[in-house]
Amino acid sequence: MLNKHIENAYKVLDGKKLSHEEAKALMNGVRGSDLLDLVSLANKVRDKYAPGIFSCSILNAKSGVCSQNCRFCAQSAHHNTGVDTYGLVSKEEALKAAQAVYDTGVRSFGYVTSGHGYREPNEEFMYILETLDALKEKFPDMKLCASIGILSKKTAKMLAEHHTGRYNMNLQTSPTKYADLIADTHTIEEKIQTIKWLQEFGVEICCGGIFGLGETAEDQVDMAFAIKEIDPEGVPLNLLLPIQGTPLEEMPTIEPADAVKAFAICRLINPTKMIKFAAGRETTMKDFQALLMLSGINALMTGGYLTTRGRSVDEDKGFMKKLDKFSSRN
Ligand code: SF4
Repeated sequence: MLNKHIENAYKVLDGKKLSHEEAKALMNGVRGSDLLDLVSLANKVRDKYAPGIFSCSILNAKSGVCSQNCRFCAQSAHHNTGVDTYGLVSKEEALKAAQAVYDTGVRSFGYVTSGHGYREPNEEFMYILETLDALKEKFPDMKLCASIGILSKKTAKMLAEHHTGRYNMNLQTSPTKYADLIADTHTIEEKIQTIKWLQEFGVEICCGGIFGLGETAEDQVDMAFAIKEIDPEGVPLNLLLPIQGTPLEEMPTIEPADAVKAFAICRLINPTKMIKFAAGRETTMKDFQALLMLSGINALMTGGYLTTRGRSVDEDKGFMKKLDKFSSRN
């Protein structure tokens, strides 16, 4: 017999919405073997409302020495992690990295920098714009994504005018817990404002978060609804990989069963979105990676993450092909 909360959630397949209370009831009322029924529903919802499997790759264009104190992050100057540090890469290096991504067949390239962001169009920001122009000129059919932190209305507009098709800015967790669980050197409001300006200038948004930070199941539901309100095109979901030297170094890695539940419920709350499994696939899920992919995901970040390695693009391609067999179209 189907768990009553899952039975109720089947309405998502008919185009109906899950309420906050219903999502929380699912979170608290589904465990054990019922989890596989939840996975099955999330996979059906993905198949119906978000078909196809997508991928993207990123370049860490400036690493470490970040003034912000994000508790999970290897690149914060507040922590002692021994991460590689370097200033902004040259335009030539960015073009070379994009070429390598292009040659694998991936057509979405993310340009990512560490740091608070750019409220003023300083020299570094202007160089980023130049680099984006050069990338677009060389790879006109590649979607350019940027993730360079908090912006002002002025810098958001300039980025939009320089080929930024999509911008990544993650909520990371429930907005009400941001200061406690993520950082207090900047606010969630600054991030949401940046997103709104970019949307005003026609830039698509990629906005997700991290599970396993020590948040509650309710926080996970709150984050999924906050993401829904932002209405992004992409939702990258990460699993925390506790990094030595950060305040979260002792955090036990999330249980695969809890990760599966959090991902599946995020899909039920955001049925039509491109939900992307980013960091934590190989390191945290290990043998359960495919199960998580069946819990409503339809995109992968491939070829490595910001400060940790991932599987090769070729391995991921084979994996995605096999995964697609779980679609009703096959
Ligand atoms: S997540 Fe970004 S802003 Fe936060 S510490 Fe890391 S690099 Fe800095």
